[in-house]
Amino acid sequence: MKKSLSFITVAVFCLLMTACQSGWQIDLHENGTPIGLIDHDLVNFYIEKVSDGAENIQLAHLLFHQGFTLIDEIQLIMDGKIHQAFDWENIAEKSQINNKGEVIINGVAYSPVTLNISPSPLAAEINLSIMDLAPTMAKVLGLPELPDAYGQPQSEIRAQHGVLILLDGLQYQKLITLINQGALPFFGEINTIHKGLTVYPSITTASTGALLTGAPPYVNGVVGYGYRSTESKTLFDLAVEMGRSVTAVEGYSLAFGLQNAEVILSGDRDGDGFTDDNVLRNSLRVIGEEMPDLLFIHFHDVDDMGHSYGPDSPEYEAAIIRVDGYLAQIYHALPENTFITIFADHGMQNDSLSSGGNHGQLTKSAMIIPIIFMEK
Ligand SMILES: [Zn+2]
Repeated sequence: MKKSLSFITVAVFCLLMTACQSGWQIDLHENGTPIGLIDHDLVNFYIEKVSDGAENIQLAHLLFHQGFTLIDEIQLIMDGKIHQAFDWENIAEKSQINNKGEVIINGVAYSPVTLNISPSPLAAEINLSIMDLAPTMAKVLGLPELPDAYGQPQSEIRAQHGVLILLDGLQYQKLITLINQGALPFFGEINTIHKGLTVYPSITTASTGALLTGAPPYVNGVVGYGYRSTESKTLFDLAVEMGRSVTAVEGYSLAFGLQNAEVILSGDRDGDGFTDDNVLRNSLRVIGEEMPDLLFIHFHDVDDMGHSYGPDSPEYEAAIIRVDGYLAQIYHALPENTFITIFADHGMQNDSLSSGGNHGQLTKSAMIIPIIFMEK
């Protein structure tokens, strides 16, 4: 009897402790106005998905989940006043949260009652998302709507063929600078280069999941590295279901499982250190032999050069200049009645720890991407 009583006491105590731990919430404000909250369940959702056993996850997961994309400043509100304010770009990489409701910035743990976020005014100017691409292509090709898509169709055009051209790691600002310098004849002829946003984390797997499903990572399940398939229906699934042909021309290997596409890998066959020339050759062959209804082309060299040398390096610029020429060749080879989108999966920023570059954060240079719609 005594034993079972103490068991009950322990059980009740544990229950209370769990309830107390999980009862916390942090109010989220945007420029002083309440817009939502972060709680134990939401943090746990991400801990289970991405933490790999660690107690802390990136705060950016929760901010993106609640609709923030480009942020200037965050303020920690405690005891009814601003406890501390941070320039978000400086701390984005070093801001975490755990399931006790602690926000850890630069290794210091805080227990804020409220997080007040000041979004960048740029966020309000940008109304295109990588999540718009699959819904747009579905509509252009006359396919049904994607069931989980958050993005919206951006074109009223109908076309027989669709082409998605992914330029991995192409920073929006660098593209515009090179166009203005006259270095990119193909891009220079394009009327509108839209400023768009990718999803967080700004990495190839998560962006590709969002680009193919039109849904954000917390819906399609691709929330980080190591995820190779989506929990939501993709544009490729939809096209094949409707009897259309889908071909994907990739680089060395698949960064992401492209189910329902006929995949062509393009290694560095000529040993020149680059794969984009091989991707070009395979793309031209596909277009020349039998143009599929939907063609996905993934160029990688811009991202590779960005990681190795940084976004301000001559190597990064040279890769963009090369791919500009490749795009011209693809455009000229494409049949009439084709709708084309050209876009990046994420941007590129200087790496604070090396002479190279990186991406993955909820920062402007990683989140802003170019998006282009063209017809032929
Ligand atoms: Zn990428």
